[in-house]
Amino acid sequence: MKKTLSPEQRKALAQSLVAEIAKLATRPIRLMEVCGTHTVSIFRAGIRQLLPENVELVSGPGCPVCVTPNDYMDKAIYYAQQEGVIMATFGDMLKVPGSKTSLNEVKAQGADIRIVYSPMDCLAIARENPDKKVVFLAVGFETTVPTVAATILMAQEEGLKNFFVLVSHKMTPPAVEALLNSEEVQVDGFILPGHVCVVTGEDSFKFISEQYKIPAVVTGFEPLDILQGIYMLVKQLQEGRHEVENEYKRVVAPEGNVAAKAMMNQVFVPINANWRGIGPIPESGLGLAPEFAAFDIEQVMPMGEVKATEPKGCRCGEVLRGIIQPTSCKLFGTACTPEHAVGACMVSVEGTCAAWYKYGGRVFNFK
Ligand code: SF4
Repeated sequence: MKKTLSPEQRKALAQSLVAEIAKLATRPIRLMEVCGTHTVSIFRAGIRQLLPENVELVSGPGCPVCVTPNDYMDKAIYYAQQEGVIMATFGDMLKVPGSKTSLNEVKAQGADIRIVYSPMDCLAIARENPDKKVVFLAVGFETTVPTVAATILMAQEEGLKNFFVLVSHKMTPPAVEALLNSEEVQVDGFILPGHVCVVTGEDSFKFISEQYKIPAVVTGFEPLDILQGIYMLVKQLQEGRHEVENEYKRVVAPEGNVAAKAMMNQVFVPINANWRGIGPIPESGLGLAPEFAAFDIEQVMPMGEVKATEPKGCRCGEVLRGIIQPTSCKLFGTACTPEHAVGACMVSVEGTCAAWYKYGGRVFNFK
């Protein structure tokens, strides 16, 4: 959307999009926003309340912290507790509960865990602490992977021997495909993550329309982008079309970012991965390519088998598959709040439960 629009013009445009959506939606329609950034934007702007009652938005498995399974958290906690290890992570991983404890708790007990804002920050920590192993928690989707790949390449070029990663990167298209193959998930269209498509390109989601005959729209993150994306989806449904359209053309090219993809493919290879709430999905994760094994903390300091358990009563899995809304979980807002999160979906700012808790019921904000 044009930045030059006045608040009044934006409001008028939003109202006309909502009116068009209401006119076109002549039957119940269920759309999934795949990505956590969309979830937060939708809640913050009150878009759910603005839509006609027969257009439902459900959140998908697009919050990287939320889909990171407990066995990974248990491994991270194990490594953080090892002598001579400095753990570096994005802040929202600290509160994610593992099977028995969290990084926050082991940090309070003395583990050296540092919050970083970019994986590149880890290289400075590694240079300043040559006698320590600096381990970065490499979690995230295609949006994060190129920066992690660039950091590993830089560490290699520099000959840094004390920088490592604990990898749990995940790729979005296989997760969407797993949901489509699951009979319990019923979705009429997908609001696709614009930032993922900046890297992968819109072509990476073509299977949705070609194999599953379901429409999808690559969508930006402003409220007007999202309303436009919803309008495009509802229009496709009304016209009986199923295509991958691109609302976010100002940023996303069909082929994506070729240089970023080349760097990803140099450092990482596809592997089978376990997703919280979905389970194992073939070739949905990324592991280090054999020539970068020296950066893999699991190879350098192997640990035994992890038997992870999920928090009792937490229904994150069903929330992540779009089967229930967070308010269907008995713990929502009682035992589970952002201050005392039981499950990962309440921890991350991009988590669906956290978004419901923080923004549920707000009216539309056009600013
Ligand atoms: Fe899990 Fe809390 Fe969400 Fe319930 S409200 S599903 S316990 S994160």
